[in-house]
Amino acid sequence: MRLIVTFIFLTLLLLACSKTEEKPASNMATAHEAKKERADLRAAIKKIEPFFKPMGKPKGYDWLASHNEPSQTFEEYLDSNPTKPTTERRKIYVLPLGTFTSQQKKIIDIVARYIEAFYDLPVGLMPARSVKRPLSVKDSRLNKSTHKEQIRTGYILDGVLKPIIPADGAALIAFTADDLYAGDATNYVFGEASLENRVGVWSLARLGDNANYDTFLRRTLKIAAHETGHMFSMRHCTKYECVMSGTNHLGETDSRPIDACPECMAKICWLTDTKPKERYERLAAFCRKNGMAKEAEEFDRKAAAVKNI
Ligand SMILES: [Zn+2]
Ligand SMILES: [Zn+2]
Repeated sequence: MRLIVTFIFLTLLLLACSKTEEKPASNMATAHEAKKERADLRAAIKKIEPFFKPMGKPKGYDWLASHNEPSQTFEEYLDSNPTKPTTERRKIYVLPLGTFTSQQKKIIDIVARYIEAFYDLPVGLMPARSVKRPLSVKDSRLNKSTHKEQIRTGYILDGVLKPIIPADGAALIAFTADDLYAGDATNYVFGEASLENRVGVWSLARLGDNANYDTFLRRTLKIAAHETGHMFSMRHCTKYECVMSGTNHLGETDSRPIDACPECMAKICWLTDTKPKERYERLAAFCRKNGMAKEAEEFDRKAAAVKNI
């Protein structure tokens, strides 16, 4: 069955600055630092390239077989006036929505810590809440194949999440165990985000299919890192096999790394003024703590590769 992931990219506001006052010395120092940061990140990109496979030819139902997407390099990202966390809105909120098994609860906790390490932003776990029932016929349905209830993503985004996003939230990401659909044209979706409203919802309902704990954990980490990237204007990656590459089915998700390719890593470090070495060290520590020894070693090697950056 063909899987569809729906994302809503809404227009970014272009902020116009009309002042042309002479820049004070501190601004010049800042401009110099920004230039150095970009040069450092370009150097880091080169060091990390050997760790990633260039994107191969898409097969069958792979994402790129049906989506003709352009790439987005680090430079193109910088030129796109991306949404950045601000001093006032720096925190990412994770909300467990509905009821979960103990394993799912554990995974949501781990995912919150992964996003924190991955983006170098504070992450707050909100108290769990339920979706009010009964749901109206326009907000829920029984899936024709599974005969199980599904909730419409638009209802969760607008009716549940938008009213509760905290003022300091860069993004609010809800996880649900309920199955989701985006509209009549979709059988189901993994999730959906609204960049404009800084909210997204992601379902665990289909991630556990034929999966043991390790696979389920990795799938959830990948989806969380990927969708949070969209909230910071990162587009799908077509240059490398990357956590930011689009996926059409779980086989494709499973084949992707949990990490961002060199171009996407530079975007992430630029977003929060993070040093690549420190980021890789944090991710290595996260993986070691959560029983992901192979990934921890790879992050250690990446940290060593960018040791002077
Ligand atoms: Zn995506
Ligand atoms: Zn990438």
